[in-house]
Amino acid sequence: VHFPIAHSILEKIQGKPRRYVQALNGVRLELMRGETLGVVGESGCGKSTLARAMVGLLQTSEGKIYFNGKDIATLHGKARRSFNRQVQMIFQDPYSSLNPRMTVGQMLTEALSVHNMCPKKDIPARIRQLMELVRLPADAIDKLPHEFSGGQRQRIGISRALAVEPEVLIADELVSALDVSVQAQVVNLLLDLQQKLNLTVLFVAHDLRLVRHISHRVAVMYLGEVVEVGDTETLFQTPLHPYTQALLRAAPSMDPTDRGKSVSLTGELPSPLSPPPGCRFHTRCPNVTDRCRIERPILASKPGGQRVACHLV
Ligand code: SF4
Ligand code: MG
Repeated sequence: VHFPIAHSILEKIQGKPRRYVQALNGVRLELMRGETLGVVGESGCGKSTLARAMVGLLQTSEGKIYFNGKDIATLHGKARRSFNRQVQMIFQDPYSSLNPRMTVGQMLTEALSVHNMCPKKDIPARIRQLMELVRLPADAIDKLPHEFSGGQRQRIGISRALAVEPEVLIADELVSALDVSVQAQVVNLLLDLQQKLNLTVLFVAHDLRLVRHISHRVAVMYLGEVVEVGDTETLFQTPLHPYTQALLRAAPSMDPTDRGKSVSLTGELPSPLSPPPGCRFHTRCPNVTDRCRIERPILASKPGGQRVACHLV
């Protein structure tokens, strides 16, 4: 699976039809088969836009998204339906993404039928199998979404995505609407499923601990750009970009001896409507130089294997 994305996406701002925000700028990222790629950054950094573009829900104004070597904008008919099946999105809000009037069984029957996943007579057995896979009781099949807890509803969303046997799951803030106690269960379920089914996962989240727990690699985004990407442990242990460093310092540490040392990011996040010139992080960077205000740093490979966009690294 290969998604080099080098483009900008223009997103309409609601109520202001002629103003656009460039939600992604020159992002180039690969999602590799069988990996979980975590995407982190403050809200408004373009994480969700990236996720939606990757499932084909947004059209890019420039640049391309490739799936198995094919530009997804050129897929039509059967090829497009196949892409729509193979790349599934699981939404943040389990409350609004499930049809309130359909039982779990009806929902899954629909998903299985639309893509002709199995002969009609095998559907009930397949649904029971899906319930086991996401660890929901068998009697869940006859219930409506409102009869479940938030965590269970998120499991239903996962089972619906898995029903069509996708290669790729795109999870945007999968657990952020859930209680902290339930978050770990759902994330661990996703981790197990990723390994068992060899899924390729894009895990978009603002919770760095969850991202570290589940991801093989992590991409850090700032104002529509990827500023650092690398192997999870390398990135968490030796972050190179000043923004990644600040983000990790701002996050509550799991090590109790580190508590109290945390520093938060200074300065306001600039408006994505008028991002700063040069390095977009220069208005908040402790290491800023004159060059940073003019010249945009490109994402370049570093000896540790990370790719970093900073003039000084
Ligand atoms: Fe900071 Fe300059 Fe590096 Fe940007 S390019 S992160 S402003 S040092
Ligand atoms: Mg978002």
